[in-house]
Amino acid sequence: MLDKINNIKEKAFGDNIPIKRKFFNIVCVGAPIFSFLATLANLISGSTAGDNSNIGIWACIICTVTCLSLYPLSKIIKNLDVIIGLVAFGMNFLIMPLLYITLGGIESSMTLYFIVAIVFSVLMLDDTKKGAALVFCAFIWYALLISAESQNWFGLSDFISSLVVYHGNEYLDTLLDLIVCSLCIAVLVKVLARNFEAQQTRSDRLLAQMEELSVKDPLTGAYNRRFLIRYLESSITSCRSDGRSLAIVMFDIDKFKRINDDYGHLVGDEVIKAVADILKKSCRDYDIVSRYGGEEFILVLPGATEETAIVRANQIREKFSAMKIAPEIDRPVTISGGVAELTISMKATEDFIKAADDNLYVAKETGRNKIVGTTYNKGLEEVQA
Ligand code: GH3
Ligand code: MG
Ligand code: MG
Repeated sequence: MLDKINNIKEKAFGDNIPIKRKFFNIVCVGAPIFSFLATLANLISGSTAGDNSNIGIWACIICTVTCLSLYPLSKIIKNLDVIIGLVAFGMNFLIMPLLYITLGGIESSMTLYFIVAIVFSVLMLDDTKKGAALVFCAFIWYALLISAESQNWFGLSDFISSLVVYHGNEYLDTLLDLIVCSLCIAVLVKVLARNFEAQQTRSDRLLAQMEELSVKDPLTGAYNRRFLIRYLESSITSCRSDGRSLAIVMFDIDKFKRINDDYGHLVGDEVIKAVADILKKSCRDYDIVSRYGGEEFILVLPGATEETAIVRANQIREKFSAMKIAPEIDRPVTISGGVAELTISMKATEDFIKAADDNLYVAKETGRNKIVGTTYNKGLEEVQA
């Protein structure tokens, strides 16, 4: 039951509902409730007590029933703009004046409800020009109505007096109407604030997603090449300024074309993802993994020397070759890596990457499944031994 109510609430007033529709739905639900409350306020205060007093109560009941029919009407007339136009017109130019006349004219508190009706209509219309036109026309209409009463044009004042003979307690009547109208405005402000908050949260989330997408590779979730270059440039500057070492490892899957050819590209993708996963798992907080090319990855290790980088790269290489990536792959898949440490002679980021690439080339040329560095060549020594 509670779930059902929540479901309806979400469908009518959820964060994904356009603001125009949301306000229309609020009018559908809120208007009957407030009409009912207004009727009750009149009954309690006895403001329409008198010979013809029932006419005021009937006007409120008619208003409640009319409001209740709004939602089914919106299902028949599919164009929301048309129905909102009808509702705004009906509310301001027919229902409000009718209630004004039948509830005692200027002595009723209907002028308060005029404000509520105008605010609801402007929010529903959700269009500055239409809203301004409505406010302008409604004010003229209300001004005419009030003038007609004050000057007794068409005998309006006499007519109103004939309907509402006696006011039970005008003070209580005004107070109750004030409470009902304040409640209406409070609901509106709350809805607007919630809507604004929801939109803010949604755009924050979208922005975060966009930022993530702009720096990450969709297949592996590793950083893309653009981010790598940016990160490397800033790491080079900061490591140089505090005298820390900086190393990178460029990894490449061995004989990867054959994996694609023998098992298909989808299996090939699984292998690429497996390399990214193992690299990500072996990262410390300030290391990053980026997909440099098709099946080439660069691991950035701030603070690491060439020796440390070779040790860590070899651990990754060994772990990877022991992994079972996909059931159909019936031979070990291996990776090779080229390590480079930042030196004074490297002028640009490209020089740094090229040094790692050159060492990777040596690893490939000398048998694959190995890690090669420039000065401290542990991987090569092991293979040669
Ligand atoms: P080597 O050991 O010398 O590296 O040999 P190799 O076959 O791995 O040669 P190379 O590194 O040049 O192979 C790159 C291949 O990677 C070619 C391309 O078809 C494949 N590739 C690139 N990007 C993707 C991808 O996103 N998915 C898949 N499945 N294959 C890719
Ligand atoms: Mg390869
Ligand atoms: Mg390659």
